[in-house]
Amino acid sequence: MNSNSPAPCPIPARLFSRRSGKPTPSSWLRPVILFALLAASISSAAQTPFETPGWTRPFPPFRIAGNLYYVGSEDLASYLIVTPQGDILINSNLESSVPLIKQSIETLGFHLSDVKILLISHAHYDHCAGSARILELTGAKYYVMDADVSVVESGGKTDFQYGDQADMHFPATHVDRILHDGDTVALGGTVLTSHLTAGHTRGTTTWTLDETEDERTMHIVIVGSPNVNAGYKLVDNKTYPGIAEDYNRGFAVLNSLPCDIFLGAHGGYFDLTAKYARWKAGDRNAFIDPAGYKTYIADRENAFQTELHRQQAGTH
Ligand SMILES: [Zn+2]
Repeated sequence: MNSNSPAPCPIPARLFSRRSGKPTPSSWLRPVILFALLAASISSAAQTPFETPGWTRPFPPFRIAGNLYYVGSEDLASYLIVTPQGDILINSNLESSVPLIKQSIETLGFHLSDVKILLISHAHYDHCAGSARILELTGAKYYVMDADVSVVESGGKTDFQYGDQADMHFPATHVDRILHDGDTVALGGTVLTSHLTAGHTRGTTTWTLDETEDERTMHIVIVGSPNVNAGYKLVDNKTYPGIAEDYNRGFAVLNSLPCDIFLGAHGGYFDLTAKYARWKAGDRNAFIDPAGYKTYIADRENAFQTELHRQQAGTH
């Protein structure tokens, strides 16, 4: 996907018609029969009318760096961090994503039941609707940024933008630990840091961690979402006063983070498919992309400022 025009998430329903038929994995995926079979099984499951093909299209799991693995779909990113004391999963995605995440973890030789901590990028259903099921299957503890807790625990009903849209709701899920900006999550020698980068939701969280690869320590950034969805009011927002200030603060944070490996809540943020193709061809540095991170954040900040100025000028 062109990094200059990433799809916001979730994408408003009116822009997309219900997806029909079975997924059609691209030719390079066809040999992966296991995933094709899984795709067929997922296509028969209940789906929301918002899904785009990349959200549910299976993607090969792989090791990104150190003990960090990709276990998401083509566009809904999930990350597994494997430690001697159990594992951390970031993003549960859709309810229908759970079997795919489980299969990806098992393909790597790990076990979903080893997940001890579940984290999310932000409280929109494309990143957290599967959480209730993941917690049920694993007994893991759910850690969520303070300002997204009520949205998670109400199943989306307190979301400032989508709270009254039933088709954006998801299973209400109890939060075990309320995170605050800058809190760390530690397990088995791995430490993740939470960074509040709000605006997209009130509690949008960008995760950072360091991984060592070939004796080189690399800073990893998993961007929560810097995107302004269609319909977001950045001026005089009655249900989210201060939204524009939060976006501005979030961009200041994102601009301050050192980044070697650029990741995010959606594969489209960081050109997952193109980078994976290079990785598969043997380039183990394919995800090291500090310049791409800076370009992406600058592009999204510019998009935010353009929309803010448009709304301030009253041309909306
Ligand atoms: Zn979102």
